Amino acid sequence: MFEIPPNHPRAESLRIREKLIEGFEKGIVAKAGLIAHGRGEAFDYLIGEKTTEPALEAAKVAAAAMLIAKHPVISVNGNVAALVPKEIVELSKVTEAKIEVNLFYRTREREEAIKSVLEEAGAKEILGVGEATSATIPELSSWRRKVDPRGILVADVVLVPLEDGDRTEALRKMGKIVITVDLNPLSRTAQWANITIVDNVVRAIPNITEQAKKLKNFSSGKLKEVLKSFDNRKNLGKMIEIIKDRLTKLAEKGIYIPEASQIYEEMRRIE
Ligand code: ATP
Ligand code: MG
Repeated sequence: MFEIPPNHPRAESLRIREKLIEGFEKGIVAKAGLIAHGRGEAFDYLIGEKTTEPALEAAKVAAAAMLIAKHPVISVNGNVAALVPKEIVELSKVTEAKIEVNLFYRTREREEAIKSVLEEAGAKEILGVGEATSATIPELSSWRRKVDPRGILVADVVLVPLEDGDRTEALRKMGKIVITVDLNPLSRTAQWANITIVDNVVRAIPNITEQAKKLKNFSSGKLKEVLKSFDNRKNLGKMIEIIKDRLTKLAEKGIYIPEASQIYEEMRRIE
């Protein structure tokens, strides 16, 4: 792994990248996962690489939904396993949710590699691995064939961070409450979920856990109120507006990095 200078202006973003590359080399992350990360990064740039107020609100509602659930399940893919394995295990403990490996590009090797990473992070039980759990159900489409009968299949609330749009839509149509973490508020996943947290998964998962700890002693009535007061359409609208307002401000500047802007001015004076 190459050294990232601690004072580099994009140190955190580079560290996240390195985790993915390392995950790819260990067989956890798929090639397409690297490309998906690039899409996420682009939106993180637009958001300002920090948790916004609507994202924090969505994280709170997500926590309430997971606490109310009878069968909450956290779906884990390669990118999630590479970026936040410990944080996923911590969230599963606080919310008593099961963890299921759920891959778009499924191979036995990747399933096992992801299982190991999660176990190293402290997970006791990992669903969705191996033939016994990925039994094929002929009349269902491929994604559904591959869910675990003890996990996503019977879940009432599923957290699917960085999920594909088709599968999110299908989960919704199965009547599940779908929570997602997706930096792109325009993706089909962001649009189809019941609760969309538009934030980087590295910030969002710890936020859900923190909120769940705060809400843990609330009555189910109170938790339901939290859930009912939430409007995903409005929340997504606020996120798009945050991006819009930020871009408007940046557009006024053109060059927004102070040092670059200063050099630009100096050069113009010389010319
Ligand atoms: P969709 O299928 O939902 O329309 P897509 O095909 O563009 O979206 P997928 O690969 O199916 O994308 O899903 C990955 C999603 O995860 C993308 O929307 C991407 O922006 C987002 N993403 C990638 N990395 C992160 C991250 N670290 N945190 C949060 N979201 C991320
Ligand atoms: Mg997709």
